[in-house]
Amino acid sequence: MSTPATTPAPASAQALQGISVATRDVHLSFGRNRVLRGIDLDVPAATTACVIGPSGSGKSTLLRVVNRLLEPDRGDVLLDGRSVLADDPDLLRQRVGMVFQQFNLFPHKTVRANITLGLTKLKGLSKDEADELALTHLERVGLAHKADVRPGNLSGGQQQRVAIARALAMEPQVMLFDEATSALDPELVKGVLATMADLASGGMTMLVVTHEMGFARSVADQVLFMDQGLVVESGPPAQVFDDPGTDRLRRFLSQVL
Ligand code: ADP
Ligand code: MG
Repeated sequence: MSTPATTPAPASAQALQGISVATRDVHLSFGRNRVLRGIDLDVPAATTACVIGPSGSGKSTLLRVVNRLLEPDRGDVLLDGRSVLADDPDLLRQRVGMVFQQFNLFPHKTVRANITLGLTKLKGLSKDEADELALTHLERVGLAHKADVRPGNLSGGQQQRVAIARALAMEPQVMLFDEATSALDPELVKGVLATMADLASGGMTMLVVTHEMGFARSVADQVLFMDQGLVVESGPPAQVFDDPGTDRLRRFLSQVL
């Protein structure tokens, strides 16, 4: 592997343009627990929607439905206006990247190998192509110089940025983040949020479950407040945060702000 870290990113990697994502009347129960009770959302291409709400309100379940880790009982998931529920879930997950609270990196593999694995196995890239793409995306998150270390030698924030680079290397059209900074020490949160904000301003479509209200306020185009399996309120951040229309949202905000 000889690609220097300063090689300019190939055009395909620079242009991570998102497409629209939407759900229509999505329902999902675990046994008798009705976790999603008719979720409609519309995230236009290249915009960011932040989902806030109390623990247990169905936020993670919703993200899992969007990238087909879970099948809804009823309803639809649309990418670029087209239903994807009949598509191969494995292919769908290449188009819809997800970053979790726990970074889920392979501890015994190098940072580079964590990223190239999916590229060679799922995308059929050669080892050299995968290496180049891995470095391109590590550069994007400011970690090209850590390509050959193992995740255990990185801070939590750096590990999460590797997880983001891994997702981006698949060249997704939509990115989902599920409390991506919740497991981090406070001083490491900022760097990860900055990486996410960069991605948003670069034109990715993002659906972000977060407790970081400052991030939601400054980066989101829309904020959705979920409670008990429903989107109770949604709108531009200024409206949701400064002029909540329901007691439920007012109570939630008073607890988190
Ligand atoms: P949030 O992310 O908003 O905290 P979740 O989507 O994780 O909420 O969970 C919503 C509800 O669904 C909770 O009552 C939770 O216990 C339940 N739930 C989530 N995942 C599963 C599962 N795999 N099996 C059974 N119940 C689940
Ligand atoms: Mg959750």
